[in-house]
Amino acid sequence: MPETETLTGARELIDDLVGDRAAEWDRAGLIPDDVLRTLATRGLLCAGVPETFGGLGTSSAANGEFTAYVGSRCSSLRSVMTSQGMAAWTIQRLGSPRQHAEYLPQLAGGKLAAVAFSEAEAGSDLSAMTTTIEPDGDTVTVRGQKVWTTAAHYADMIVVVGRYGSGAAAVVVPASAPGVTVSRVPQPSGCRAAGHADVRLDDVRLPASAVLGGGQPLMLLVTTALAYGRISVAWGCVGILRACLDAAREHARTRKQFGKPLAGHQLVGRHLANLLTAEQIATRVCEHASRCWDDGSPEMVVATVLAKQVGALQAAQGAAAAVQVLGSAAAHEGHVVERAYRDAKLMELIEGSTEICQLILADHAVSMPG
Ligand code: FAD
Repeated sequence: MPETETLTGARELIDDLVGDRAAEWDRAGLIPDDVLRTLATRGLLCAGVPETFGGLGTSSAANGEFTAYVGSRCSSLRSVMTSQGMAAWTIQRLGSPRQHAEYLPQLAGGKLAAVAFSEAEAGSDLSAMTTTIEPDGDTVTVRGQKVWTTAAHYADMIVVVGRYGSGAAAVVVPASAPGVTVSRVPQPSGCRAAGHADVRLDDVRLPASAVLGGGQPLMLLVTTALAYGRISVAWGCVGILRACLDAAREHARTRKQFGKPLAGHQLVGRHLANLLTAEQIATRVCEHASRCWDDGSPEMVVATVLAKQVGALQAAQGAAAAVQVLGSAAAHEGHVVERAYRDAKLMELIEGSTEICQLILADHAVSMPG
């Protein structure tokens, strides 16, 4: 099926499945299983998986626009999508051909996945992680405690990053394996239905064939896996901005104060101009980053960090501007703009916080020729 056709149908499916239920899911802290399974079975949670492995083989640009669409409807669902895509990407990049053939069709065909890097003492500084993946003949034993793993509550498999000998590895851990305990993060402030959970790994014994990329330097492995998370979050931020722009524009056109629509007051108009600017800036940097992915450009890593940095910053500022335009209308829990405000702020913390992205970009700026 041509790519555009596949994704046009996908948007309609999202409209059907999400409808006006995102606020209800946010309040309940749960996305219904049938919604996730329907999307996962159609390969839409990781649309970049190549067709040879049963995926849709979607370009980064098309997958990005689809991610933004999902993000404009429900940031929790978009977060689950980001985790699934990051798991698939990590397997694609670090796995052997045999591992590709084993895991990718599962992810494109209905199984759900999460990726666990963070630990209580290893947040921004992932080099401090202490989880170990210890080889023992044809098995490995995984020990550690991961925190804040998005989608882990829903996941059938969790890609866990840990120390492996003098380097690092990722390991595909079935959520049902003995020794795995998944405990939900209680009442997160945003993306409340994204299934964030802490994951305890008590002597989890797995076949050695579950180990991906064994022995690589830890930070190289982390950067590889995070690249997908970053581009996906960046496009998700575009979605947040589009939802905010739509809601703010509609409200400013229809709500009257001082005898005229809010949009007729220039200080309100300034908020709308800023929101439009934010949406356009975020879209353009994401398009550039996705072009780098699709062209296999060496600029891809930096363009992706830039997209995440700009997207998250613009989304946080844009959502705050939208709240200002809506006034008390956005002070109702569950309103699209109220959710966006909470969700957008978290985008500044994850996949490399704003400060960590700035440090990466500063290093790049210093090392540029000329
Ligand atoms: P800290 O590292 O303690 O940082 C606190 C503050 O200090 C931040 O502002 C940070 O930018 C700043 N800071 C830290 N170091 C520096 C420095 N050197 N220079 C300047 N400023 C600095 N983890 C996973 O593994 N998988 C997931 O799926 C996942 N999903 C998440 C979803 C959500 C909603 C949240 C909130 C977290 C998630 N995480 C996940 C964890 C996330 O990656 C970490 O929260 C993030 O890396 C930041 O770590 P921290 O919270 O420990 O903050």
